[in-house]
Amino acid sequence: MLTLHAEIENTNILLKNNRIIMTSYKELGLVNTREMFAKAVAGGYAIPAFNFNTLEQMQAIVQAAVETKSPVIMQVSKGARNYANGTILRYMAQGAVEYAKELGCEAPQIVLHLDHGDSFELCKDCIDNGFSSVMIDGSSLPYEENIALTKKVVEYAHQHDVTVEAELGVLAGVEDEVASEVSHYTKPEEVIDFSTRSGCDSLAISIGTSHGAYKFTPEQCTRDPKTGKLVPPPLAFDILHQIEEKLPGFPIVLHGSSSVPQDEVDTINAHGGKLPDAVGIPEEQLREASKSAVCKINIDSDSRLAMTAAIRKHFDENPGHFDPRQYLKPARENMKKMYMHKIVDVLGSDNKL
Ligand SMILES: [Zn+2]
Repeated sequence: MLTLHAEIENTNILLKNNRIIMTSYKELGLVNTREMFAKAVAGGYAIPAFNFNTLEQMQAIVQAAVETKSPVIMQVSKGARNYANGTILRYMAQGAVEYAKELGCEAPQIVLHLDHGDSFELCKDCIDNGFSSVMIDGSSLPYEENIALTKKVVEYAHQHDVTVEAELGVLAGVEDEVASEVSHYTKPEEVIDFSTRSGCDSLAISIGTSHGAYKFTPEQCTRDPKTGKLVPPPLAFDILHQIEEKLPGFPIVLHGSSSVPQDEVDTINAHGGKLPDAVGIPEEQLREASKSAVCKINIDSDSRLAMTAAIRKHFDENPGHFDPRQYLKPARENMKKMYMHKIVDVLGSDNKL
């Protein structure tokens, strides 16, 4: 009897595992990027792609998207999976859909996206576990290998109606486990061949954006004589326009597009932090890019800065507090404010549901 009981238990676990292994994003109320991007390209705006690792980031993203009536991409990096656990993040995205409905949004458009997938196996694992979109980043590989790897992911993803972002060109900077010292701009003459042969649904390009909160060295920048702050070099809009001409209407993605708001950096530094010369992409340039074929803009560092600024300020003003809810609440509010600002004032994706 004991053996039989154990066998039944094992069968149940297997069945449970089988169900977990093959969860379609459609069962979770998530959407892929196809229709969302087509509308964004036609409408001259961009969809926000916010990275998340914590409950507070997830709540703030959903609240901001619901209040502004914006579609949103919630993305998970390899670092986020290591920190929070991929399964937990999947369930959080599922929770995000239900939370959006509870907040009054009848048909939320939320994408769960893998940021910087580095292997076919990782992309497959995410597709099998409820992700509606994946990025395969073969940008560090030789050109032909990048095409072959992307094509392999696309073939599997499209069987499940999951959309695939690829990358051509290399961004400088550090983001979780993705790092490069130098950037290599995307070559416009390669984009038609790459997108046709790989079959990707969108393409991340390199035109001078960069990962992290230190996007440029002081040597790459000029300094504002009045404020002493660094002024970064402009994005290569000429390359963007050449790519748009080669691939009319094709969805383009910008990574490394935090603006590193100086008021948050100042708050951090005024309350014991040390972030000298942190600098990002000016919002006017991102606004301009949003009006083009750029239809997805990745923002991660700005959320980290908004959270850290609020927490540092809170501790400075309330040294006796030790309940995480006391300092995570203002952190969540500050992130929500930042997300709403990006949606309304930079990307223009508000009222697009
Ligand atoms: Zn990136």
